[in-house]
Amino acid sequence: MTIPVPQAPITQDVLTIPRKAPEGETPNLIGMTREQLRAALIEHGTPEKQAKMREGQIWQWLYHWGVREFTLMTNLSKDYRAFLDRTFQIKLPEIVTKQVSADGTRKYLLRIDGGHEVETVYIPEEGRGTLCISSQVGCTLTCSFCHTGTQKLVRNLTAAEIVGQVMIARDDLGDWDTPGEAKREERLVSNVVLMGMGEPLYNFDNVRDAMKIVMDGEGISLSRRRITLSTSGIVPEIARTAEEIGCLLAISFHATTDEVRDRLVPVNKKWNIETLLKALRDYPRLSNSERITFEYVMLKGVNDSDEDAKRLVRLIRGIPAKINLIPFNEWPGAPYERSDWERIEAFADVIFKAGYASPIRTPRGEDIMAACGQLKSATERGRKSKAQIAAEAAGG
Ligand code: SAH
Ligand code: SF4
Repeated sequence: MTIPVPQAPITQDVLTIPRKAPEGETPNLIGMTREQLRAALIEHGTPEKQAKMREGQIWQWLYHWGVREFTLMTNLSKDYRAFLDRTFQIKLPEIVTKQVSADGTRKYLLRIDGGHEVETVYIPEEGRGTLCISSQVGCTLTCSFCHTGTQKLVRNLTAAEIVGQVMIARDDLGDWDTPGEAKREERLVSNVVLMGMGEPLYNFDNVRDAMKIVMDGEGISLSRRRITLSTSGIVPEIARTAEEIGCLLAISFHATTDEVRDRLVPVNKKWNIETLLKALRDYPRLSNSERITFEYVMLKGVNDSDEDAKRLVRLIRGIPAKINLIPFNEWPGAPYERSDWERIEAFADVIFKAGYASPIRTPRGEDIMAACGQLKSATERGRKSKAQIAAEAAGG
């Protein structure tokens, strides 16, 4: 059966909104790199000689203990705490709603400056817990199977809003260490994946700064190998991911010919399969222990034939890789269907016989629309068109 595949432009007609810091607010310490934090302390009058020590103390309170009030930072003098309180703030996104799925998956809807909303998903599994975080409100790209890609409003998240998602999940799960108690080795949030809303490589600097905070050994302290960044294939930024962040890489591959990939992941028209594979073969950290994950969404009658599976293994030959098959997650109005289970297994079998692990990603949190590619903020869903607003205004 062939399902007609809609053509999509590379980037949609989106409204990209700059972030406006609310007027009159003091600077937020969350999201500053260590260097930025120290510079801010000095700029506001902390003597240079003390600044390094203060930076370390504040850092630990914020990112090791998860403290949100300067008054609780008891190894600082009362005067210094009062100074911090007058001069800075500790600000995180606000939780608007939290939904818990029958399978334990949690989805948080968070509100950020400007009243925009993003989603974060926590997925508990045997022996680990993965937090799927967002890097943008919406996405400028228009992958035709992705719900986020239909959102017409886009803003890059700040580093504070990105690391803030990890901190909020730790709050909700009680995952911070407690002063006076031994450091826990087991973390409920043990892994982070940049697979929520947005294209992380179109917000590179903020994603990098936030991940540096997440990896810092005196704070949240997740190893770089527990962080995976997923990209649709923004070729010029791929090498920087290894060089400046050092995390693992996942590629939204999804098709084995340019003709089909152009339709599924329209950014392929800019950087096609050959260009993308070249960038991956040159990826700086590539090794057998740090393989690239190829994500492949299974769409009935579109990209799920045995020929596709064979072409896929031929294309990626020589690249240390894992292939992750994702059964398509439906959303209202989606123009595709999920491949049948037998088809997915047959596809997985071809890949397995070619020598690759071929795990099929179990959809999680489907009952709360928390699965891959289903995220789209509620305000956007309910957003009215200009015509609707005009009509309502005219009607009085
Ligand atoms: N923008 C980045 C990261 C977010 S999407 C990227 O595209 O890689 C995370 C993964 O979910 C990507 O592989 C994406 O292609 C996939 N995805 C998007 N919509 C989906 C859907 N409806 N069903 C299954 N997977 C989907
Ligand atoms: Fe954006 Fe990724 Fe969705 Fe494509 S799949 S529209 S890049 S969020």
